[in-house]
Amino acid sequence: MSAQPTAPTPDAAPTAPGSHVVDGFAGAVGNTPLIRLRRASAATGCEILGKAEFMQPGGSVKDRAALGIIEDAEARGQLIPGEPGIVVEGTAGNTGIGLTLVANARGYKSIIVVPHTQSREKLDFLRMIGADLRLVDPKPLRDPGHYVNFSRRIAEELEAKGERVIWANQFGNLANAAMHEATTGPEIWTQTGGKVDAFTCACGTGGTLTGVARALKARNPTLRIVLADPMGSGLYSWVKTGEVKAEGNSITEGIGQATAAPGNLEHGRAFIDDALQVADPEALEQIFDLQLHEGISVGGSAGINVAAAIKLARQMGPGHTIVTILCDGGARYQSKIFNPEFLREKGLPVPPWLA
Ligand code: PMP
Repeated sequence: MSAQPTAPTPDAAPTAPGSHVVDGFAGAVGNTPLIRLRRASAATGCEILGKAEFMQPGGSVKDRAALGIIEDAEARGQLIPGEPGIVVEGTAGNTGIGLTLVANARGYKSIIVVPHTQSREKLDFLRMIGADLRLVDPKPLRDPGHYVNFSRRIAEELEAKGERVIWANQFGNLANAAMHEATTGPEIWTQTGGKVDAFTCACGTGGTLTGVARALKARNPTLRIVLADPMGSGLYSWVKTGEVKAEGNSITEGIGQATAAPGNLEHGRAFIDDALQVADPEALEQIFDLQLHEGISVGGSAGINVAAAIKLARQMGPGHTIVTILCDGGARYQSKIFNPEFLREKGLPVPPWLA
């Protein structure tokens, strides 16, 4: 296992009242800006607002789930700050980054299982921050080699050896959605002053959608919650018909499901009003437009989300406020979304300034 830094003082020191100083990594999670996307808003006559999760300390929306899961394990006594502990997870990358950074700040180790098809930038970053990275082949969920099953087995084996270990289980662990219900949703409500008509975002685990949906619907039951799904994922059909039917492929990472709705998404099912499908070229158009004309550089899932918010705005008509999530930053996908060879290989249009 690779060496990881240990924290000298894992306990958060309270900051003085009125102070704007936050304590450590955990203190810096959350409270991201809500950015008015000027071009998307002008094009639709709606207010289209993006929650800038790419500004989280670990670079993605998954910092929230990572912190929520580790804090929950500590509250249950499964991990004890200041004592050795191991966090194991299977992830598309971002959850592993968040978990490793929280673990480093608390004095735990992390073992992170990722399919090798995920972007090189995420894998390099995981190694750089000291995760014990295990790469696996992409496999169907029912296969024992699937990254989720593989990571669960590692945690079980360590537990059998008497290690203090948790399997983070972001798909089934409801501490994930609970963190969004306690932070992301209320932040959106406060930032908009309650003037929000709809929320849309894509799902990996469903933690973000479910948590935000539960928080916002508790404050305004008429607000619309719409799942955004990349073409090729089966969650669109799950919302529409109750059945997960997947066909095709997307270049996006960390979102969509081919076989089943994860526990964190099921937990929000009653709050989801509708679903929208977005194709990769539609997402890319938004990613390139945001980057070149708004100065906002985001990754694939944020592109799906913004494209879905625009579709939803056109369905709802002018004058509405629609919030979505800017999940992570473009730098995490330089070798893919911003790489002309990769785009050509996938039969996707190469924007002129990259060609
Ligand atoms: N976007 C990216 C880039 C992600 O890594 C993830 C999580 N895998 C998501 C979106 C989806 O978030 P959630 O797990 O909360 O549904």
